[in-house]
Order: sequence, then C-alpha cells, then structure tokens
Amino acid sequence: MLSGAISLGVLPFIVIRFLQKDWIMVILNMSAFIGLTSVFVYVSITGRTAIARWIIASLAVVVMTFTVYLKGYQNILWIFPALTTVFFTLTPYIALTIAMAFLAVVIAIVWPEINSVMSLQFFIATGSTMLFCFTFSYRMRKHQDELTVLATQDTLTGVGNRRALEEKLMELIESIKRYPNQSASLLLIDLDEFKSINDRFGHSFGDQVLITFTHTIADRIRVTDKLYRFGGEEFVVIAENTSQEEAVTLAESLRHAIEDIKFIGKCSLTASFGVAQYQKNENQWHWLERADIALYKAKESGRNTTCPAPDVTF
Ligand code: GH3
Ligand code: MG
Ligand code: MG
Repeated sequence: MLSGAISLGVLPFIVIRFLQKDWIMVILNMSAFIGLTSVFVYVSITGRTAIARWIIASLAVVVMTFTVYLKGYQNILWIFPALTTVFFTLTPYIALTIAMAFLAVVIAIVWPEINSVMSLQFFIATGSTMLFCFTFSYRMRKHQDELTVLATQDTLTGVGNRRALEEKLMELIESIKRYPNQSASLLLIDLDEFKSINDRFGHSFGDQVLITFTHTIADRIRVTDKLYRFGGEEFVVIAENTSQEEAVTLAESLRHAIEDIKFIGKCSLTASFGVAQYQKNENQWHWLERADIALYKAKESGRNTTCPAPDVTF
C-alpha cells in the first residue's frame, strides 16, 4: 500500500517536470515511479515484504537526496516524508543509522545556501522528527514482540501453545514437501489420571506438576525438538529428522524420566505416548489424528506406555 500510494503521489510531479522540460527531474521521478510500482506488483503477487522494505527506503533516501542536490534548499521539505518512510519500513536502529547518514549528506549539500537561523531550524525540525519516529517505531516493535509472545506461549508453563504448534506443523510440512527425504515425528503425550492428582492435592499443586513435567521434557529433548502444550494435560513434542523407531525410543526415555520425577513424596506421575512419523501428503490434522489414535491405544492398554501410530491413509 505504501509503495502504491507513493508511486501515485509521484505521478503529478512527472507531469509538472515534463511540462517544465526539466528532463533530469523527469528521469528521477520516473525511476521512483517505476521502482515503487514494481515493488507494489511484487508484494501484491508474492506477499513478501522483506526486500520491498529495503527498496522503498533506498528509493526514498536516494531520490530525495538527488532532488535536494538538483533543486536546492527550496525542496528541503521532501526529506520529512523520506525520513518517516525509512522509520516505517526498517527496524528502529537501522532506520536511525540510515536517517542520520541521509541527513548528513543533505546538510552537506544545502550548507552553502543556508544562514545560521535556517540551519538551526533544519537541525531542530529534523532532529525532533527523527526522535519522534524512532521512539514510535521502537515502542511499536516492542509491543508487537510482546503480543507475539502472548499469542504463541502457554501462560502457565511457558512452552509454545496450540497456535504455535499448528504454525510449526504447517511450516514443517511445507519444508518436507520441498525436501521429501526429511523425516519428522510427533509425540502426543497425555498425563495419566491427572484429574485425580488435582482432586487429591489441589489445583495449584496440579499446576506445579505441569510446570515440572515441561521442565523434565524440555531438559531431555534436542534443541531442534520442540515442546508444545496441546491443551489441558496434553502435550506434543515435534522431533525433526526423526524416524518412527527413533521417536518411539525418545518417547520411552521421556516416559521413564517422567516416572522418575519426585514430587516431595506426595504423588507419582506417569504419562501415555502416541507416536506418529509424518506420512507423505497428509496434513497437520491427519498427522495429529494418527498420533491421537496411538495415544488412545496406549490408554486402552493400561496407561504409562508408548504406542506407535497406524499407517492410516485418510
Ligand atoms: P487419563 O489418564 O484418561 O488421561 O485421565 P485424566 O484424569 O488425566 O484425564 P481427564 O481428561 O479426565 O482429566 C484431565 C484433567 O486435567 C482435568 C483438568 O482439571 C486437568 N487440567 C487441565 N488443565 C489444567 C491446568 O492448567 N491445571 C491443572 N491443575 N489441571 C488441569
Ligand atoms: Mg487428556
Ligand atoms: Mg490425562
């Protein structure tokens, strides 16, 4: 939207400069128009903004520097939209660095033309604009990071929540589609008779059990494996580059580690595991469903056990 709006804003200036037969400015404005329109089309089709951000910021800085160089101090106002564009498109500290370099070049260009009052106006106006843009951009990004954590993290245990799990599964399936030799397995874990722990020792003790459980698992899986809370007392471990057999071995070692947890003599904890390796062409729901079928079998066969998933084709 930003690239589309600025390219439309540039259009009248192409016409004005054309009528004035100011060919250098026509070329400069045409370059900005073509560059921004290309960015607009590219982002509309691909949805990717990483490179587009850099192109928009670079065009804003380069075109405005040349405009001031060619037209002098009378065109100084254009540096303000250029400054805000840089802060809007790039991360705060990178934007601040580029904005200061941009202003240094502009001040070097206009220095011979301006008196001391004008230079004071320039420094105060650009300095306060930069300060405001930096603070705004910094706070916005900080809030954005906080919201991302809130939206993807389980508040009790700190592990990824169901939303994070679904995103990770989709990402992993896309990656396996690209590299079909890659394997990945999913361990669906359900704590056994957890309701009775709550009933006997209270809900807050149950919460502590859940936290200790996540620490125990997180300490034992590889850094590339990820633990998520699927809901209630159900958890998922995603083990990348792991076959069904390797995942069953991992599940068994985690199951024993859970059995070994000592809860100050109050209670013992066990868990049941359903293990499913990703099968070609299945989506995340089918994958989870096969792990759930295996988990159900583990519960049926007396709990505190691991069952591999069936090769069901949905
Ligand atoms: P099963 O072996 O068949 O899985 O039995 P279960 O008791 O573990 O299963 P059930 O689904 O009957 O009960 C799950 C319990 O988990 C009930 C619910 O109160 C408890 N629970 C879910 N979320 C939390 C939580 O955040 N904190 C605590 N303390 N308990 C929770
Ligand atoms: Mg359950
Ligand atoms: Mg349970």
